[in-house]
Amino acid sequence: MDFGLTEREEVLVARAATFALGFSDIDGSPPWEQWGDGGWAGLCLPEELGGGGYPALASVLAFEALGRGGIDRGALFALGAHLFGCAMAVANHGSAEQKATWLPRLASGAAVGALGFSEASGGSDLDACGSKLVADGIGYRLSGAKTCVTNGSIADLFVVLARSREQRSPFAYSMVLLPRDTPGLTVTPIEGVRGLGATMPAEVEFDDCPLAESDLLRRSDLGMAQMLDIMRWERSCILAGSLGALQADFERVVRHLSERGRHQATDHALARIATRTEAARWLMRQAAWRLDQGGNDLVQPSMSKLFLSETIAECTGELRRLVAGAAWRGELGLADALDDALALLSASGTSEVQLNTIASQIGSGL
Ligand SMILES: Cc1cc2nc3c(=O)[nH]c(=O)nc-3n(C[C@H](O)[C@H](O)[C@H](O)COP(=O)(O)OP(=O)(O)OC[C@H]3O[C@@H](n4cnc5c(N)ncnc54)[C@H](O)[C@@H]3O)c2cc1C
Repeated sequence: MDFGLTEREEVLVARAATFALGFSDIDGSPPWEQWGDGGWAGLCLPEELGGGGYPALASVLAFEALGRGGIDRGALFALGAHLFGCAMAVANHGSAEQKATWLPRLASGAAVGALGFSEASGGSDLDACGSKLVADGIGYRLSGAKTCVTNGSIADLFVVLARSREQRSPFAYSMVLLPRDTPGLTVTPIEGVRGLGATMPAEVEFDDCPLAESDLLRRSDLGMAQMLDIMRWERSCILAGSLGALQADFERVVRHLSERGRHQATDHALARIATRTEAARWLMRQAAWRLDQGGNDLVQPSMSKLFLSETIAECTGELRRLVAGAAWRGELGLADALDDALALLSASGTSEVQLNTIASQIGSGL
């Protein structure tokens, strides 16, 4: 394994840190124009289609630097869902025409992307997907609904998992692309979420939406395999910004405790947080590096997602405990950190879903 960066990639990570310092986050809404201008909205998309052409490893390190530099966790999660969830789905599975239509717009921030797979009946069981794609002789009709869709309130493009055959089989699903102005598509913003508010989530409903063959991701009925591949990208990359933010929180707490006089109990707690954060960083790098090697295993992304989300949630809780009254008074920027961290536990699949994926491979080489 070689986690070394090229000179161009090192410049990118340094640029992310500088960008974060000069970043303006208006009303907590992700500023898509700034994401586009900075090159962040299309970091790992192909250069010939407007992206940065960076590998996954450099991309997660850039996201980590953006988070460490103080950019809101929710805004970075939203950017990650746009890039690693929606845009990479089009880049890895779209037709030449779909890529040419969408990737330059997604990379520039002119279009915002979203990925819809969770339904009200439960997001963990993808097989239970109730959204249906039915051929109507001319093209297809999509009916059903998705919930908790990150960027849903503002997205211009939705990549959606739908059932395209009645039988229970891995070949009974398709992924479809829906522009926001598709007839029959309704978006209802979800207000008052606890944590990661800048993700602007929505319920998205499909009422007999008309679709053409060209709106399906390249191979119809292979939607579940495509969905799992998309999850490999999301789970490997989407928490990088929050990991950077945890490091920034840690450094603020160390400064605060140092000013008040440190003692062994707090130092041991800090040492444990530092060690766990470092372990999370290495697991994240390994998962991203494996994406760059073209592997297709699901275990490493699940291990990374499980360990990062639990480390961020538990260490954030510990940091709040360490600064005691100051955290309660809303100081040190920790006021929303715990809600943000707890939301990460369910996003991109809960811990139990990651454990199921990892456990399914125990005994076969794991
Ligand atoms: C911040 C955030 C962003 C999100 N963004 C998106 C998005 O962009 N697009 C999208 O489609 N969804 C999104 N989601 C939804 C997310 O994917 C779901 O919340 C998640 O998959 C869990 O589904 P659920 O909430 O319906 O819980 P359920 O599936 O109902 O699960 C309830 C509980 O049962 C456990 N459980 C369920 N099945 C099993 C099992 N087989 N074995 C063991 N335990 C099990 C779960 O771990 C959980 O604790 C987002 C969620 C959050 C919090």
